[in-house]
Amino acid sequence: MQIVSNPHANIFDPAVLQDVADGNLRMTPEQAERLYHEMPLPELGRWADARCRTLHGDHLRTYIVDRNINYTNICTAKCTFCAFRRDGHEDDAYTLSYDELKQKVREIVELGGTQILMQGGMNPELPLSWYVELLEQLRSEFPMVHLHAFSPPEIIEFINFFDTPGKNTEEKIRYVLKELQNAGLQSIPGGGGEIFASAVREKIGLGKCTGDVWLLVMRVAHELGMNTSATMMFGHIEGIADRIHHLDQVRSWQDRSIQDFGLNGGGRYVSFISWPFQPDNTPLGRLPEMTDGSAFPGDEVAKLDGSGHKSMHKDFGRRLRLAGSSSYLRTQAISRLYLDNIYSIGSSWVTMGPAIGQTALMYGANDLGSVMLEENVVSAAGTTWCLDEPKLCRMIREAGFTPAKRDNAYNILAIHNDEKAPDRQVKDWSLLNKDRLVSHNDSCEAVTLTVSS
Ligand code: SF4
Repeated sequence: MQIVSNPHANIFDPAVLQDVADGNLRMTPEQAERLYHEMPLPELGRWADARCRTLHGDHLRTYIVDRNINYTNICTAKCTFCAFRRDGHEDDAYTLSYDELKQKVREIVELGGTQILMQGGMNPELPLSWYVELLEQLRSEFPMVHLHAFSPPEIIEFINFFDTPGKNTEEKIRYVLKELQNAGLQSIPGGGGEIFASAVREKIGLGKCTGDVWLLVMRVAHELGMNTSATMMFGHIEGIADRIHHLDQVRSWQDRSIQDFGLNGGGRYVSFISWPFQPDNTPLGRLPEMTDGSAFPGDEVAKLDGSGHKSMHKDFGRRLRLAGSSSYLRTQAISRLYLDNIYSIGSSWVTMGPAIGQTALMYGANDLGSVMLEENVVSAAGTTWCLDEPKLCRMIREAGFTPAKRDNAYNILAIHNDEKAPDRQVKDWSLLNKDRLVSHNDSCEAVTLTVSS
């Protein structure tokens, strides 16, 4: 049953917000925008937490043991926020071989991992058959590992670079996804979502698919029975209304997927995670920050219906407004209240650090994401947090919850409520204080972690 909205309700009325928290009332974009701008942060957090407790109860908060594998950094797109991509001729351009990839999967299996998250650049040298063969080999050698891979821009790359059968984009997407699914692909990560509004996307996502096409890829995946996640990267040139529009797109397309495919074994968005843009080593990060208190160009251009146009402000796309902890928690809390049809909201401690990542559990997040061995994308942009399984469990426990290990479908695999819990096995925490990620070129002896999407 679809939740109704009431545009005339006073969204600051506690009874109205209780209805939202209980899942009986759907917020409108205008109400979400007002809450974002006007509600004190702790109060917003309390309501997001109330909504989270309605869905996930008071006790368990989760994480997953998986590995993030970035199989290639060669990419034809030139996203201005990206410090990871390389042209094929650059010295540090790489594409991992099947043997290297399988070795990485082997390592996570040995550590009790249940999933790999595999994403990479849009590499024109790799035909669809390369991915199909890879998935088949992984499926056959590691049948117990969930294959969560290839975000929508990569799927579109297969279509654009090669002669894909189909009369239109949707048919071509369906062809590619069926090939990958038959080879073993089980679900699709939400990478490449950034901000859907075209004015923003055209400025920062050069050579990448549009927001509509991104959403279409996910819809076809849902039709084929695959679950997906959704993401948002904010805190750059966008306005606050762009963030709300982005959430609204995810919610609307989720409604359609549930309605059209839900009774026929279809998939859906099972999770949403948002994080602030990381500026180091990126072209976008060289823009001047707006610090003089004047109106931010992104806000002047942004429209709740996504119709903003760059011509609306002469400095649009030329000024940054980076998001700090407060903006991050506020945005995440709004996402929890707004996305009433999405089960999981993930904390992005990889970008925000453990303290804010832990605080995010009080601002609507129910999940700390992944325990993994490596991460190359956000670490290339200067963010280098790393935590292992005992630390993740400790963060959850110190936030007042019991840590629980989950799988990709959010089935609980272990509840750590006794003395065998990973954090309760640690005798000396100082030995675990190695909290920097390593680059993909370094040997990785310590178990390091990041959040997956
Ligand atoms: S964000 Fe992804 S698609 Fe964009 S340049 Fe970087 S690797 Fe390529």
